[in-house]
Amino acid sequence: MYRYRCYPTEEQAAQLSKTFGACRWVYNEGLALRQKAWREYRVSVGFAETCRALTGWRQSVEMSWLRAVSSTVLQQPLRHLQAAFQGFFDGSAKYPKRKKKGRSPDSATYMRTGFSWREDPERPGTRAVKLALQREPLDVRWSRPLPAGDTPLRLTMSRDRAGRFFVSFLVEEVVPALPAVFVAGTREPQAVGLDLGLASLVTLDDGTKVDHPRLLRRYQARLKRLQQELHRKKLRSRNREKVRLKIARLYALISDVRRDMLDQLTTRLVRENQVLVVEDLSVASLMAAGKGKGRRRKARLNEAIRDASWGTLLRMLTYKCEWYGRTLVVVDRFFPSTRRCSGCHAVGPKLDVSVRQWACTECGAQHDRDENAAVNLRDEGMRLYWQVSISLPPGSKAPALIKASELSKEIRLAA
Ligand SMILES: [Zn+2]
Repeated sequence: MYRYRCYPTEEQAAQLSKTFGACRWVYNEGLALRQKAWREYRVSVGFAETCRALTGWRQSVEMSWLRAVSSTVLQQPLRHLQAAFQGFFDGSAKYPKRKKKGRSPDSATYMRTGFSWREDPERPGTRAVKLALQREPLDVRWSRPLPAGDTPLRLTMSRDRAGRFFVSFLVEEVVPALPAVFVAGTREPQAVGLDLGLASLVTLDDGTKVDHPRLLRRYQARLKRLQQELHRKKLRSRNREKVRLKIARLYALISDVRRDMLDQLTTRLVRENQVLVVEDLSVASLMAAGKGKGRRRKARLNEAIRDASWGTLLRMLTYKCEWYGRTLVVVDRFFPSTRRCSGCHAVGPKLDVSVRQWACTECGAQHDRDENAAVNLRDEGMRLYWQVSISLPPGSKAPALIKASELSKEIRLAA
C-alpha cells in the first residue's frame, strides 16, 4: 500500500466531499436495510441484495444526487459493510455501527475502472492519476517513488479530520524474501523476544529499550493545552472551530511521527532476525484492567495504550514477516512471561504494574521486569517454532505466522 498526500483543486475537493458523503449514506442505508429485513421479516440480506437496492436508490428521483457519484465507487461501502458483518459473525468484531459525519474517517475506494493512470517517461516514479467524473489529474505529492509496472488494483481517496487529502494505491508487489539469518556459526535461527509495555514501548531480550521519540512528548503536552483551551471556548463559536482544527492537525502530525518511527523499528527488527516473538496482547483486556480504579486512571492508561500503538506495531511485524520470509510467533496470552524467572523457570506471584525490578525467590536472580519477560517470550516462542517446524514435511519453510492459540494441544503443550 502506497499512501501520498494530495492537493485537490476546489472543484475536485467539492466533488470528493460529495463522494465521501454518498459513500457514508450508502453504507448507512445498506446497514438499515439489513437490520430492517432481519428485524421485521427474519430475512438475511447479503452483499448482492444491497447492490440491487443501490441500483434502485440511484434511479429514484429523491436520490438523484447519488447519480453524481460513480456506481462502482458506491458499491465499495457495501463491500465494506459485508466485511463488517462477516467480522461480526466470526466473532472478531463488534456489530457494525452507522458512520457519522465528522466522526468516521472520510474515504472512497475506486476500482480499476474508476480512474485513469498514465506514466510520464519524463518523471519516473510518478503517474498522472485522474478519477472518474473529474476533468483534471490529481496533484499528488510523490513523497516516495511508486514502483514501475502494473496499474494498481484499486485506489482509495481519504480525508482526515484535519482536512488533509490522501490517495493510497494498492499495488500487487512481489517483495523478494531476505536471506535467512542464523546465530553466528550455527544453523540456529536468529531470534528476538519483544515485550510490549507501558514503561517502554518495546523491550528486547538483550535489554534494549525502545521508546517513542521525545518529540511526541512535546506534542502531547501541546495537545493537552489545546484541549483545555477548547473547553474554555463557547460551543459552536468560530474560535472553538479554530482550536478544533489545530487539535486535528496535531493529531495527524502525531500519528505521522509515530507511524514513521514504528516503520523504521519493525524494518530493522525483521532484517536482523529470523524469528520474532511477541505476546498475544489483547489490548481490550488491558483496557478492562484499568476499570474500577477510578476513571482518571483508566483514561490515563487508555491514552498510554493508544500512544504505545501496539496494534500498528503488530500489524507491521505481521506483514513484514510475510514479505521477507520471517516467522512471527505469537505466544499465548496466558503464558506467565512476566512472573516466570527466565533463569530457573520458577513462577512467582503476580507483579503489580508499578514493580520494575524483582528477585527470584528460588534462584535469587535479579530481574528487570521487561527484559525478563522478553527473554521468556523468546524461549517460549522458539520452543513453539521448533515444535511446528518438526511437524512439517522435510524441506518446507516455517510459516510466516505461528499463533499459539491456534495450534493443536499436542504441539502447544509438548515439552
Ligand atoms: Zn529463578
